Amino acid sequence: MDSPMIRVGIIQNARKIKISLRGDSYISVGTVEMHLEDKRELEIAVLRSKTPEPIYRVVTGELEDVTGLNDMKKYKIIRVGKKVKFSGKVVSDNRKYWVCVGEFEKMYAAEEQFDEISGISIIEDFIGERGGVIKITDSEGKEITEGEVLRIKSSSPMTVFDVPVGEGYHFEHSETQSFKGWLEFRINNYGGLVAINELPVEDYLASVNSSESNPDSPPELLKAQTVVARGTVFATVGKHHFNDPFDLCNNDHCQNYKGLVRETPRARQACSLTRGEVLKYGREICDARYAAICGGITEDYQNAWFGERKPYLSTIIDAEDTSEILEFYPATTEKNAKEFIDSMPDAWCNIVKSRVPDYLKGVEGFRWEVKYSRNEIEKIIKKKTGRDTGRLFDIIPLKRGNSGRIILLEVRGAKATFRIKGELSIRKALSRSCLLSSCFYIESGGGSITLHGAGWGHGVGMCQIGASLMAYNGMKYNEILKHYYKGTKIKRIY
Ligand SMILES: [Zn+2]
Ligand SMILES: [Zn+2]
Repeated sequence: MDSPMIRVGIIQNARKIKISLRGDSYISVGTVEMHLEDKRELEIAVLRSKTPEPIYRVVTGELEDVTGLNDMKKYKIIRVGKKVKFSGKVVSDNRKYWVCVGEFEKMYAAEEQFDEISGISIIEDFIGERGGVIKITDSEGKEITEGEVLRIKSSSPMTVFDVPVGEGYHFEHSETQSFKGWLEFRINNYGGLVAINELPVEDYLASVNSSESNPDSPPELLKAQTVVARGTVFATVGKHHFNDPFDLCNNDHCQNYKGLVRETPRARQACSLTRGEVLKYGREICDARYAAICGGITEDYQNAWFGERKPYLSTIIDAEDTSEILEFYPATTEKNAKEFIDSMPDAWCNIVKSRVPDYLKGVEGFRWEVKYSRNEIEKIIKKKTGRDTGRLFDIIPLKRGNSGRIILLEVRGAKATFRIKGELSIRKALSRSCLLSSCFYIESGGGSITLHGAGWGHGVGMCQIGASLMAYNGMKYNEILKHYYKGTKIKRIY
C-alpha cells in the first residue's frame, strides 16, 4: 500500500544468512544490477569487516535545540530521529539532540555516572572505522557477487531462514519468514551481518498488528493496535536504533514484525480503515507504548524508562468499575502490592475471571508464580548479574511504581549486597530467561523462594489483553485508545 517507506532490522547479528528466491529477482550492488531467474537458494556471508570500539555514554537530556547550551565542549551531542516525507510532504519529524557525557569502556562505569547525575539513559556508541564487504553465493558455493551493501528484490515473496524471535525471553526460537519490498544486507558495528526489510509502512503495519495481537482478535482491537503501532513508528524512527542502518528492529524492543506470514485480510482491513491515523498529544505524535497484560493497573512511563514523565503514558486503573482496585491503589507500598497481587480484581485483562473468547484461552500472566530453591536462585543471580552474592539472605523491593512493579531491588548476600535498577533488569536478573513482570512479592522459607506476581510486560500504555476484551465487549477503537492514553486525539498524518 502506497505510504512512507521504513527499514526494519530482521536479523541484527549473524555470520551467515540463508535465503530463497523465486520468480524474477534482482540483486543490486552500488549501481550494478544483476538479474536472477527461477528458484535460487542463496547464502550471504561476511568476507571482511572492520569493527569499531564500543563505548557507553550517559544521555543527560533530549533537546529540540542546542544553540543556547553552555559549555558545549563538555558534551557529545548526537542528532537522533528522522524527518519522514511522503508525496512531497513532511508527515512527521521527531528529530532531537541527545546531550551525552562520558566515554566509558565498561557498562558499570557508565551506570555509576548515570546514578550520580540522574541520567535519562545509557547508550552504546562506537569509535573508529566500521563497515566491510559481504559476498553472496549460490547453493553450490559459487560466488555471485560481493559488495558493501547488497539489495535484493523479487517478483515473489523472498524467504529468509533462521530469523531469531524473542531473543532473551522464554519463547526464544527461530523462524523461516518471508518478505516483500527490498531485502538489504550489510555489516553491522560488531563485524556481523544485518538483514533489513525495506517496505511501505502500511504493509509493515498489516503484519505488526497481527504479530503483536492474535490475528483472530476483534476488528476494533486490530484497529487500536494498528494506530498505536503506527504512532510508535513515527515517534521512535531513528531513535532506538540511531547507530544502526535501520529504523526499527523486529522484536519486543521495538515492535514484533514477522513478515508476510502474519498478513491476513483482516489485518489489512484494520490498516486501511485507519490509514495514516496516529495518536497525538498536543502537536506531538505519541510514543504509544503497550504491553501484554498490565495486571489491573498500568505503570507510569518514567518508572520503566527513566527520563521525563509523559502525561499520556500515566498510570490508570484498567477496569470498568475501578472501586475494587482502588483499595490497593497505588500499589507502591509492600502491603498494597501484596494484597493487590493476591487479589483477583475484575480488571479488563483478567482472563481468569472474565468470559473469554477462544483465541485468548490459555493466555497466562494475569497472576503467576515462580518457585526456586535457594541454591538455584543464587546461581541465576550470579549468572545474570555477574555478581556473586554467596549465600543469599534476602531480596528486598526498595521502590515500586503505582502498578506494583518493582523499579529498585536490593539483593543481600553473605559475599555481596547490591541493587538492581529498572523493571527489565530486575526481570532478567531473577530468571533464566526473563520474569513475566517486575510486579511480584517474595515469599521465602524452607530453603525455597517463591515469587508471586501479576501481569506480563512493562505495563506502560495500552494493556493488549485488556484492550482485546474491551473490543470483544463491543467497545470501539477510539474508546479503547482514550481509556489507555489520557488526553490524546486520533489524527491523520497522510
Ligand atoms: Zn528495536
Ligand atoms: Zn490490563
